[in-house]
Amino acid sequence: MKSKPLVYIADLTYNTTVLSNDTFPIGIGYVAAYAQKNLPDSFSFELFKDADALFDTLDLKLPDILAMSYFPWNKNLSLMAARYYKQRKPEGTVVIGGTFIPSESKTQIEFFKENPFVELLVKYDGEFGFLEFLKRYLRRDGNNKQIFYGEQLDGCVFWSKDENDLKAGKTIGRPNDLNEIPSPYLTGLMDPFFENQLMSPMLQSTRGCPFLCTYCWAGNKFNSTVKHFSNERILSELDYIAEKRRDKENRLLVFADANFGMYDKDEIIADKIASLQRTYNFPSSFAAPCGKNNKDRVIRMLKKIRNACPIVSVQSTDYQIQGNVKRKPIDIEEYKDIVSRLKQLGLRVQTDIITGLPGETKETHLQTIKDLVYMGFDQISAFTLMFLNGTELNTKESLERNNWYKRYRIVPRNFGKYRGEICFEIETVGVGSNTFTFDDYLFLRGFHGALAMIFNSILFVEFTSYLKQNDVELFDFTLSFYECLREETGPVGDQFRSFFKEVSGELWKSEEEAKDYITKEENYQKLLSGEIGDNLLDKYRIMTVAENFSSWCESFCSQSFIQLENNGRNRGELKAELSDIKNHIMAKSNNILSMQNAYGEPYSVRLLHNVSQWKRDNYIHPLSHYKYEKPTEVKYVIKEENKRLVKEILTLYSKNKSDLWKVASSRYYLPAIFREEIIFTK
Ligand code: SF4
Repeated sequence: MKSKPLVYIADLTYNTTVLSNDTFPIGIGYVAAYAQKNLPDSFSFELFKDADALFDTLDLKLPDILAMSYFPWNKNLSLMAARYYKQRKPEGTVVIGGTFIPSESKTQIEFFKENPFVELLVKYDGEFGFLEFLKRYLRRDGNNKQIFYGEQLDGCVFWSKDENDLKAGKTIGRPNDLNEIPSPYLTGLMDPFFENQLMSPMLQSTRGCPFLCTYCWAGNKFNSTVKHFSNERILSELDYIAEKRRDKENRLLVFADANFGMYDKDEIIADKIASLQRTYNFPSSFAAPCGKNNKDRVIRMLKKIRNACPIVSVQSTDYQIQGNVKRKPIDIEEYKDIVSRLKQLGLRVQTDIITGLPGETKETHLQTIKDLVYMGFDQISAFTLMFLNGTELNTKESLERNNWYKRYRIVPRNFGKYRGEICFEIETVGVGSNTFTFDDYLFLRGFHGALAMIFNSILFVEFTSYLKQNDVELFDFTLSFYECLREETGPVGDQFRSFFKEVSGELWKSEEEAKDYITKEENYQKLLSGEIGDNLLDKYRIMTVAENFSSWCESFCSQSFIQLENNGRNRGELKAELSDIKNHIMAKSNNILSMQNAYGEPYSVRLLHNVSQWKRDNYIHPLSHYKYEKPTEVKYVIKEENKRLVKEILTLYSKNKSDLWKVASSRYYLPAIFREEIIFTK
């Protein structure tokens, strides 16, 4: 072979409305770094994340090898790019690897038949199979006919066209010392991505998850082998990233570990993050799924890190369902204690649940939510069961056992038009089974909407705290609010009914049906405008603040009054307290994603109670204890040190209100940009 073969490695993302997947592509960084180390000076590598950038580069120069990741959120995009490449260079080689590649021989054969422009699938950790392929590529002079003929390749699967046979190599296990894979940061492979301020660095300190949840790709046997990168290396990577991002607009950091805090060494990493925050104000906030054992360590670590958003995933509190999906039973009282300890640190604690797991009924799901409310979680994020390649739930046996009722929907934000062709991603979801009807699904999805808008919203936390203080069960309150929303006339009811309409309208009977619809230009325009294809829970949660915030505050106020009016309180006092809470919430959070807030423009309200002090005291006394001597004008303003955050969000992201809220609420620690009470004037 004469010159060094050129390899493009891409972990593509859509960037049509917002950058859909906005983390650095460390996965392909590891693959390239490992190949460079083992085959020095043999190949030239270029890494891509942005789909437009890849298409543009393909138009200028075609590589010898195009290798791409294959995940639920970019599988069709990768295949489109592969087809585009092969039409221009039929002798080139296409390699695909990632969690969504077919896992069984039968589906692998189907895959190669449907996608004849793909030569090779790399299984599990891509570094090792890809290296085996590159070695053979060199030995066989880059000739596809010779490479994909004869003996199989370890870590890979290919279809030998000449032998008409599927060749599946042995699985290559994870090495004991993960440091065999060089750092994509310290080798400079991630450097180009630092230029893009919309992208956030991602770091992995541990690979694998010891649990075997049957719905999760990470729950397979291969991935249950847990290995760590050395702390020395992770600390160096953290220094490297902080140095590059400490003065930049985007100072976020994402951790890819499945169970951060589960291992001793994580504590050293937490210390380092805290020290970087003190020295450089980097990272500005920190989110990671928390380890499922050693809660004391997790709590100790989160105590040190500023603006941490802990996620303690539960999925279901039903023992039978937990057993059905191979999750360990949860001790509700133990979890309640953990949540309470995290909240004592001033943290907002989130959890995830999945609707429609094996054995789920409407009642078990409502009970799960009730339990989570009892445990004290601040945010309950509900997901519909997804069927992922390679998981136990996505097998024929599982279908026979559970009689799944499957539907198809667009993966939110994952669509675009490339070289005139519309591309989008579809996910397969479970909206019914032998224990769970489609009507149950619709009812619960509606309830999830109410949860997102009412219970989860950090904007209304003073209302929910007031209700709790007055012995109202928040679960019952949310359920009754939900029933009222379905009937309520006015902007809030209208908004909720349009959410409910979209819930059933977002599902298709088959991928083909979805494709037929979306590839029509007029329907694609609906995707672009957000009329269809958005994450509905996010969309409507955001619309409450972006479009109808004062109406929602009014509605919350009147629903709270209905709940409390018969509990023996003086109606006048009750009304005055609820009205003060409403006004405080408006002052705290109305129009905060604005230049006015970034410049510290105050918001004034007249209050009868010192709601801010009541909140600062963590709601331990009744609000009536905080009554001013006379009505008082109170000014609220953003903290000086947080003005920068608002500017950062406004500068980095589009001026579209919904997009701003989407970004602010999913990637930032929202309370940091709230206004706080500052001045009392008599
Ligand atoms: S759901 Fe979480 S704990 Fe379970 S296998 Fe996946 S990553 Fe591991």
